[in-house]
Amino acid sequence: MSIKLNSGHEMPQVGFGCWKLDKQNAADQVYNAIKVGYRLFDGAEDYGNEKEVGEGIRRAIDEGLASRDEIFVTSKLWNNYHAPENVEKALDRTLSDLGLDYVDLFLIHFPIAFKFVPLEEKYPPGFYCGDGNKFAYENVPLAETWKALEALVAKGKIKSIGVSNFSAAYILDLLRGAKIPPAVLQIEHHPYLQQPRLIEYVQSQNIAVTAYSSFGPQSFLELKHKRALETPTLFDHEKIKSIADAHKKTPAQVLLRWATQRGLAVIPKSNNPDRLAQNLSVNDFDLSDAELKEIAKLDIGLRFNDPWDWDKIPIFY
Ligand code: NAD
Repeated sequence: MSIKLNSGHEMPQVGFGCWKLDKQNAADQVYNAIKVGYRLFDGAEDYGNEKEVGEGIRRAIDEGLASRDEIFVTSKLWNNYHAPENVEKALDRTLSDLGLDYVDLFLIHFPIAFKFVPLEEKYPPGFYCGDGNKFAYENVPLAETWKALEALVAKGKIKSIGVSNFSAAYILDLLRGAKIPPAVLQIEHHPYLQQPRLIEYVQSQNIAVTAYSSFGPQSFLELKHKRALETPTLFDHEKIKSIADAHKKTPAQVLLRWATQRGLAVIPKSNNPDRLAQNLSVNDFDLSDAELKEIAKLDIGLRFNDPWDWDKIPIFY
C-alpha cells in the first residue's frame, strides 16, 4: 500500500523508523528490514546513523533485493541548519553519509532554528549550539528555510519536501508563501495524543500525514522519560487488548492499523525479526466504526516529544 503525495511521488504507507538504531547494528537491521519487505526508511541527520542506514540500503541494492527507485528514503534537516546558506551543506552531508544521490523526502525536523554549528565542529550537533549545554538560536523565518528546500528539489537532490512537529498555524503560514506545498507532515500520533483537527486540516490540504511513536510511551521508556514511565503502556491497555483479541492480532498491529485505516502512514521501529514482520502486515484487517470510536476516547493530549522539555520552547502551545 502506498500514498500518492501531492508532489506526484508514491510513499509506502508502512515504513521502518531509524531513531535510536545503534551504529553497530543499524546496517544489518536496515538490510534485514528490506529482506522482510520494508521499502521506506525514516531517518534524520540527528539520529547519527545515516552512514550505517545507507550502508544497509546500498548492500540490499547491490545484492538485487530492491532497486534504488523502489526504496523511499526520508531524512530530516536538523535545527542548526535552518539558515538558507546551510540547508544545502546539511543535505550534502546526509547524501554523502547515505551514499545516495537524492533523498525521497526531506523534512524540516522541528520549527526551531538553533545557532549554526560548523559540520567539522560537531556532527550531528544534537542540542549543542556552540557553547556547552547552552541553547542558542538564530532568527531564520521558516519561509526562508523552505525556499532553500524548494531550490534543492529543483536541483534534483530531493524528490519531496515536508515538515515535522509543525502545528497547523505554521503550516497555514508556510502555505501562504510556498511555491511547493509540503508533501508530508510527520507528527507524534497515538491514542494518547490524537490531534484530530490538525489531521483533518492537513489532509484537507492534500498533505499526507505520517504518525511517529505509534506505540505511545513505549519508545520513551528506554530514555527514562518521566511522563512515559508514569503512563500505562498501550500494549497492556484493556481496550487495545480486547480489540486485538477480537481480530486475532497483536496490540501493536491494532495501534498501527488504527492510523493506516484513517489514511496515515506509520514508521514503527523494531529490532526483533518477528515484530518487524508483524508491524509490516497491518493492512489486512479493518477496525469497526465502534472500535475506532472506542480508541478515539483514549485521547488525553499526552505528548512525549516536546521541545518545552528542552528549553521551554513552546511550539505546541
Ligand atoms: P515506536 O512507536 O515505533 O516504538 C518503538 C518501541 O516499540 C521499541 O521499544 C520497540 O522495541 C517496540 N516495538 C516495536 N514493535 C513492536 C511490536 N510489534 N510489539 C511490541 N513492541 C514493539 O517508536 P519511535 O521509534 O519513537 O517512532 C518510530 C519512528 O518515528 C522513529 O524510529 C523515527 O524514525 C520516527 N520519529 C520521528 C520523530 C520526529 O521528531 N519527527 C520523533 C520520534 C520518532
